[in-house]
Amino acid sequence: MKSVHPSSPSFQPGRHLEVLDEPVHDAQRDAERIASPAVCTECGAVYGDGHWSWTSPPSHALQMRCPACRRIAEGRPAAHVTISGQFAQEHADEVMQLVRDVEHREKTAHALRRIMAIEPSGDEIEVSTTDVRLAHDICNALQDAYDGKLNVDYDEGERLLRVKWVT
Ligand SMILES: [Zn+2]
Repeated sequence: MKSVHPSSPSFQPGRHLEVLDEPVHDAQRDAERIASPAVCTECGAVYGDGHWSWTSPPSHALQMRCPACRRIAEGRPAAHVTISGQFAQEHADEVMQLVRDVEHREKTAHALRRIMAIEPSGDEIEVSTTDVRLAHDICNALQDAYDGKLNVDYDEGERLLRVKWVT
């Protein structure tokens, strides 16, 4: 007998997306491998005290590429968010602006949370991010702003989170 408990990633309105908390260990592991302090040669984010932020680098900082810029360079997003349905199609500009606003807010506070791509494709909007938390925040913002249904799937092998939002 299998228990009906935590492995099902289905989402119920009003609950937080606990399933999205899991894959975050990847980013933490990335951070642990870095000898502090360091500065990203691509975006200028600075590593120190266990995390990346937008501060000024110390003069002896190591030059390297931050985990977000590495994902962007390798074309390897941490999460895909697909927004689909008639509402999304009719309000694509508004929905994409909401997604960009969430990124702007999150990226300011958390240097590694970035959108890799956001593009309309048919009646869907495809968003890829460098961080699962950003996908989580985008979904929460969509949930707060619009009616919709969310499907969450984490691919353990690919280490990729796929979220589908249907309006
Ligand atoms: Zn960077």
